[in-house]
Amino acid sequence: MKHDLIVIGAGPGGYVAAIRAAQLGLNVACIEKEAALGGTCLRVGCIPSKALLESSEKYHEARESLHRHGVGTGDVTLDLGVLLRRKDQIVTMLTKGIDGLFKKNKITRYAGHARIAGAGKVVIEGAEPKELQGTHILIATGSKVANLQGVELDGDRIGTSTEALNYPEVPKHLIVIGAGVIGLELGSVWLRLGAKVTVLEYLDRILPGMDSDLVAEAHKLFTKQGFEFKLSTKVKAARVDGKECVVECEGAEPLRADRVLLAVGRVPNTENLGLESAGVQVDKRGRITVDDHFATSVKGIYAVGDVIRGPMLAHKAEEEGIACVEHIVTGFGHVNYDAIPGVVYTQPEIASVGKTEDELKLEKHEYKKGSFPFMANGRARALGDTSGFVKILADAKTDRILGVHIIGPRAGDLIAEAVVAIEFGASSEDLARTCHAHPTLAEAVKEAAMGVAERTIHF
Ligand code: NAD
Repeated sequence: MKHDLIVIGAGPGGYVAAIRAAQLGLNVACIEKEAALGGTCLRVGCIPSKALLESSEKYHEARESLHRHGVGTGDVTLDLGVLLRRKDQIVTMLTKGIDGLFKKNKITRYAGHARIAGAGKVVIEGAEPKELQGTHILIATGSKVANLQGVELDGDRIGTSTEALNYPEVPKHLIVIGAGVIGLELGSVWLRLGAKVTVLEYLDRILPGMDSDLVAEAHKLFTKQGFEFKLSTKVKAARVDGKECVVECEGAEPLRADRVLLAVGRVPNTENLGLESAGVQVDKRGRITVDDHFATSVKGIYAVGDVIRGPMLAHKAEEEGIACVEHIVTGFGHVNYDAIPGVVYTQPEIASVGKTEDELKLEKHEYKKGSFPFMANGRARALGDTSGFVKILADAKTDRILGVHIIGPRAGDLIAEAVVAIEFGASSEDLARTCHAHPTLAEAVKEAAMGVAERTIHF
């Protein structure tokens, strides 16, 4: 049981690294404690939540907006069981797909909890304990939900995103603690399906870290959709009381709801990995310390994804996994952290890459900006989805694109163009002079780029 590379964790960081390493000719093992491969993202994160967002959006459209297209629907009904099973089928299909990819790439899969027992040695704990030898070890164990003191999770009425993917009935009233990505995405699902949704947020704004203009627009649009936001609200406690949940906030009357979703962030999964005895250093926030090539403080041990610094995003973990193993094999491997997009899959979607305007102001970086509203985009008009805008920030002197922020229809897909532009060091003029098909939503990106030079055509 000797391998060139032992990957611990089969989430987007781990499984992608395992496949790339196998492509590069390494003999690779991957250890995963869950029955299904794919990690949080595929099993209980990105994929199932997107399936629910899509279904709930269709239900909402059928009830609220198809009539605007002249499409009559009669009585629109909801079969929650079918909706949830469809989501489960998508998850099963994709996680099995990784099984297939492992076989195709001749990656040896081990089941159980892995613990590092020194450089080059990993013990698998479980029904059949094993000891593996590996020239290189890659830790890709991801993250878990952060708890909040006083919030008594019961795995049912007061739960995390995992429970919120499977509520057996539409809650009458759902309280979401945390106005971050998870709170808004899963809050949107249940709001569209008929729940009253109250979001309690500690800060005085939603979506911390995102560009303030996007956030202001999102706050306005989400409030119009029916979200109730209570900002600057510190949750002190939450507990189940009979068939209800009681949530206590500082300086306010207790709130009651039939379900509570705790979504105040995630923390790295480093428990019982043997890090301390192996000498792997972690920082104050419990994240494994790595250098530019993902090497930890112990020779031959690497880490990528949610267990290290940076945004907790599946695609960031994938890039790191690939760069890490490419560096091990070829001596080259790099991640451009200036070009990592972030997408919130609400309606409308919100997507960003690069610096926010707030960051540029703080850094006293001189910039120019251009923006363009979807209201003035022909395709958005035809879609009947005209909310939001594109904003492009470029260096005042060189015109190099520094950040692109989009709130609007298909923002998550539109941002890809901006990521490529930043990756290639493009100027706003490069984007503005690139021919975009008409009529497309992407024309709003081109027009925003033209706006940097104050020459938008359609607005
Ligand atoms: P988050 O960090 O996005 O948001 C947590 C929110 O909770 C913040 O607004 C924070 O101010 C608030 N909060 C913290 N303590 C609080 C308290 N005591 N009372 C009230 N509010 C409080 O975290 P999340 O939404 O849980 O998501 C976790 C991670 O998963 C994030 O890193 C996120 O990027 C990732 N994720 C990404 C996507 C996506 O890319 N679409 C989707 C889901 C999750």
